[in-house]
Amino acid sequence: MRISVLGMGYVGAVSAACLARDGHDVIGVDLDLDKLRLIEEGRAPIVEDGIQCLMAEVVAAGRLTVIADATRAVRATDVSFVCVGTPSMRGNGEQDQTAVLRVAEQIGVGLRDHDRFHVVVVRSTVRLGTVDGQLREILERTSGRRCDVDFALCFQPEFLREGSSIRDYDNPPFTVIGTRSERAGAMLLEMFKHLPCEFIVTEPATAEALKYACNAFHAVKITFANEIGRIAQAMNIDSHAVMDLVRRDTRLNISPAYLRPGFAFGGSCLPKDLRALLHIAKTRDVEIPMLGSLLGSNRLHVERAAEFVLAHGGRRVGMVGLSFKAGTDDLRESPLVALAEILIGKGLELRIYDPHVNVAVLMGANKRYIDKHIPHLAALLKADYRDVIRDTDIIVVGALLPEAVSGIRSLATVDQYVIDLAGMPEAQDLQSEYQGICW
Ligand code: NAD
Repeated sequence: MRISVLGMGYVGAVSAACLARDGHDVIGVDLDLDKLRLIEEGRAPIVEDGIQCLMAEVVAAGRLTVIADATRAVRATDVSFVCVGTPSMRGNGEQDQTAVLRVAEQIGVGLRDHDRFHVVVVRSTVRLGTVDGQLREILERTSGRRCDVDFALCFQPEFLREGSSIRDYDNPPFTVIGTRSERAGAMLLEMFKHLPCEFIVTEPATAEALKYACNAFHAVKITFANEIGRIAQAMNIDSHAVMDLVRRDTRLNISPAYLRPGFAFGGSCLPKDLRALLHIAKTRDVEIPMLGSLLGSNRLHVERAAEFVLAHGGRRVGMVGLSFKAGTDDLRESPLVALAEILIGKGLELRIYDPHVNVAVLMGANKRYIDKHIPHLAALLKADYRDVIRDTDIIVVGALLPEAVSGIRSLATVDQYVIDLAGMPEAQDLQSEYQGICW
């Protein structure tokens, strides 16, 4: 294919050299004439393992040429990769998209008298909604052509790490293309099908958010390991030995477990042990702001659920699930108990269905906990799930108890409001108004 790469920084230079190596004819574009001169001489504008040789090879083979004029490059090619920088703005941290928007205008002008279908692939990290919003609008306005008909727009998050960019380019975790155009998806599949990874087409905004989610997750992991390291060091414990073992658990730790948006955490272990760890750090004067923020963030999640209920204005609330995990009767630090407490405190009429919780047989710490928080629980519990669905204004789905979920499906009416904390399947088929806790 004939490809333009706009912006010859870390991402653009590696992408251009690898695309040229893979047999495509590539035109590299940058405003920085010094960078273009270097590339013309077969030298890479960045320091990166393997890039010097690769750049020399593809330039000598005539596969990679450069110009400063983005519009001309776009006219001569079928696909454009946007790899210009999006640095943080001073002050508020917002991404400065000036270069991306400027390049979009130049591409649009190039598309104006382009007689073929052209695919614009954004690889720069952009604010959520930019591709389907501002960029689509700029490209349609400046080109006078229709997106998804005469040209297509995609977002392809880039997972290169500086220092191992070429290896990462050849071995990505997956190739994700955010686009509304099937034709563009098919063209990019053809371009990247040789890569040893899954190829996934999704919504543009999902792909944009994926990039932020991945980088935030990496930052969380690094900070987590460092905070555990600081506590371990203060206690003369080998932090590497601890984290080596943390990583060895691929069932619960390094795994999909606990990585779905849902309701707050709770139960008899997580809050208790987290508090204990924070206490250890405090007594040793170790600062661990990330771990220290978790209980507060978790509390906000419970308050958010209460706010959804209170904002509706209805007074009669049916709640499905109460224990901290469906299928158990453990009420200790259940976030659903915390939610119930807030709602009762606000004077709402609450009915609860949880067939695993039987007040008569609760004992020990579990009984003490509920006696302290909802002493009249027995009066709120209903043995029949239908009693929390009928004659209520709001239904809170706190657990996916199958009989109650199918009851909500068949019995909930248009004038009821379902607040989902657990991730009901096929919620779009409900007759009632529906609100997920964070989806
Ligand atoms: P960079 O600053 O190294 O390179 C950007 C290049 O774009 C510069 O050479 C600049 O001269 C050029 N440019 C700016 N405006 C231009 C214009 N109007 N026309 C042509 N060229 C123009 O940036 P980078 O590190 O390669 O990152 C590019 C984007 O990719 C950013 O959005 C970044 O967040 C994202 N990203 C970077 C990495 C990485 O490892 N560096 C990884 C994934 C994603």
